[in-house]
Amino acid sequence: MHELSITRNIVAVVAERAGRRRVSSVRLAIGKLSGVDVGAVRFCFEACTEDTTLAGAALIVEEIPGRGRCDSCGREVELVEPILRCGCTPTSMLSIVSGDELLVRSMEVTDV
Ligand SMILES: [Zn+2]
Repeated sequence: MHELSITRNIVAVVAERAGRRRVSSVRLAIGKLSGVDVGAVRFCFEACTEDTTLAGAALIVEEIPGRGRCDSCGREVELVEPILRCGCTPTSMLSIVSGDELLVRSMEVTDV
């Protein structure tokens, strides 16, 4: 399950930033086209944060809708699937504008 390694990485990065402080919440931005299952991340988060400074931290997930822009006609469309075809010409391709990100937006820490 690749969400497990993704979550493990996020937890490691946040824990490193927090140093010796406790983390009370973590806000993630997960794009709808990132292929990351938000439910699986939530599930893994609890397991991965056990016995770390993130134990019991709230996980807030912001889902970013997919948007693409056509390289030929410049049209912007909402993408529900990672299919990057426009349709204005048989070969037109869309570039992803948003929706493929996986970011730690913010974290809250409390001093011990
Ligand atoms: Zn187009």
